[in-house]
Amino acid sequence: MDKLREECGLVGISSNEYQPMGMKIFDGLMSVQHRGQEAAGIAVYHEGVMTYYKNTGLASEVFNQENLRPLNGSIGIGHVRYSTTGSQERKNAQPLVVDFKGGSMALVHNGNLINAVKIREELIEEGHSFTTTIDSEVIVRLLSKKYKNDGLKALIETLKRIKGGFALILILDGKMYGVRDPHALRPLVMGRTKDNEIVFASETCTLDLLEAEYIKDLEKGEIVEVTGSDYRSIIYDDTKRRAVCSFEYVYFSRPDSRQEGRSVYEARVRMGELLAKKDTGDYDLVAPVPDSGIPAAVGYAKAAGLPYTHTLIKNKYIGRTFMDPTQEGRERMLRLKLGIIKETVKDKRILLVDDSIVRGTTMRRLVERLKEAGAKEVHVRSCSPPVKYSCYFGIDTPLKKLLIGANYEVDMIAKHIRADSLKYLDNEDLIEAIGIPKDELCRACFDGEYPMEVPRVQSRYVFEKF
Ligand code: SF4
Repeated sequence: MDKLREECGLVGISSNEYQPMGMKIFDGLMSVQHRGQEAAGIAVYHEGVMTYYKNTGLASEVFNQENLRPLNGSIGIGHVRYSTTGSQERKNAQPLVVDFKGGSMALVHNGNLINAVKIREELIEEGHSFTTTIDSEVIVRLLSKKYKNDGLKALIETLKRIKGGFALILILDGKMYGVRDPHALRPLVMGRTKDNEIVFASETCTLDLLEAEYIKDLEKGEIVEVTGSDYRSIIYDDTKRRAVCSFEYVYFSRPDSRQEGRSVYEARVRMGELLAKKDTGDYDLVAPVPDSGIPAAVGYAKAAGLPYTHTLIKNKYIGRTFMDPTQEGRERMLRLKLGIIKETVKDKRILLVDDSIVRGTTMRRLVERLKEAGAKEVHVRSCSPPVKYSCYFGIDTPLKKLLIGANYEVDMIAKHIRADSLKYLDNEDLIEAIGIPKDELCRACFDGEYPMEVPRVQSRYVFEKF
């Protein structure tokens, strides 16, 4: 579909007990599967021994009872991946596990390092070799280089060198570490289970699944060091402005999650309410583009006093069908994914709500199909401002020339997608809906105000040449 894509989902658990940890991590990965569907992996650790398994595919395709059975330990970390750097091969799946002078270390990483190319070139020059084509490997190679019998010290030195948006979970020196970048761009939350285990995860829906009580979202520039079920916090960098990713609230996070203590569902409902407040047109019904437009359509319908109605139905069993990149292939995919309830559409003036419009190609076909099914008018509303700029912090964004919001005015976009009218949530209303102060949010894909200097070109295959 025509969406920005989150790069990865992370889970980590530390316990005082040796146990079937792989199974718990697997359950956690299922709850963040929406954050990455290309590869999945788990590493477990106990008394100096690291065991791991990873492969390409969904977590449910990669793991089975047989390969989970040996994954026992007192610490476990897991990863689901959608790549923003490196190809989709098995070698690029995480956790990254390396043997080094401090024993065995494992890392899972969500995000993107903007200075990874430079560090990788330097390390190769010094004689270090790399086994993957992903930016995350520079973290474990730097850490190995800097390690002198003190994992935490080497980790802090490594973190001072890397730049970008990142959340990390590591197994190092027999401990589990959770890390958030100095701007808090990528999310990482922490909780404690009834069995006194410490959990890290990209979203609170994982804490709920594992029946863990929420402790906190990690702070910007924070390391949490976990030993068994005890933990301590270290702020390694407090010099940067907080810049929480606003797109987590628009689309990436599950609606049953809370980010920074704020309900993602409630933020989306509020986006719909604020859109409705500025709308003066006449419509017969409000319909979501499922699933991402549902909470905002609920909010819009309530605020406007209009019936909330389903006009599009999502096929839940489609999985990851082969994607043919031609126009016909995309059309086939859209027909496979979404059906139309003709009875709710005929002769109606439809207010259609989606989370965002990235290229505009999917929305155009949806509008056309609703009209073919008998809709009198289709008015499109986007719960985010126009996406105009690329993300460099771990989100896969099409090239700027393909971002419809970067290249056309709103009335031209409305014409292109065949909508009778088009409105976007404005920047101020987005900030109000999320409820985090403006200067503590990243909204760079909407307004181009990046929280750090970014490179002019970023290719996901940038390391393939090394
Ligand atoms: S540029 Fe957009 S997607 Fe990327 S971190 Fe900022 S708000 Fe999130």
